Amino acid sequence: MTITDEYGVSELPMTETENTHEGGCTCGAIRYRMETKPMIVHCCHCHWCQRETGTSYALNAMIEADRVTLLLGEPEMVPTPSNSGKGQKVWRCPECYIALWSNYPGVGDRVHFVRVGTLDEAHRLPPDIHIFTSSKQPWVVIPDGQPAFSDYYERDKYWPKESLARRKQVLEQPG
Ligand SMILES: [Zn+2]
Ligand SMILES: [Zn+2]
Repeated sequence: MTITDEYGVSELPMTETENTHEGGCTCGAIRYRMETKPMIVHCCHCHWCQRETGTSYALNAMIEADRVTLLLGEPEMVPTPSNSGKGQKVWRCPECYIALWSNYPGVGDRVHFVRVGTLDEAHRLPPDIHIFTSSKQPWVVIPDGQPAFSDYYERDKYWPKESLARRKQVLEQPG
């Protein structure tokens, strides 16, 4: 089976299995694969994410950088201000400038915050946790039972054990 679309992005084998996720930019110059499921998926309702996406929230899948394989092209890093004041690195297609993922200070370059909307099958990664709901658009309704926080939350309480272990491991790598 091959991926084909109106942009002529084709001939790429469909290698997605249960836990891998492939994605890319709009023009097709960048293709990538997440080799495993992410540690966590955040839906961030902060004003910064609203502005950066032009919509109402950002969906970010946090995954170890070494679990993201570039299949085609080389993203370009665009230094971008962030809410923390420390800035973020947004990696974009050098041709169509769609944002594919970001790195933030803290975990740094070792963890990619992959923009879930760039995945071919974004519906397979719904949010685990909603953050910064204090600035959520009023018409966005969070399903009952979904963890949601007015700003941030205690990671140890809400992340699966396996994801906490993965985060610990990645922080032990040189950053
Ligand atoms: Zn592109
Ligand atoms: Zn945000």
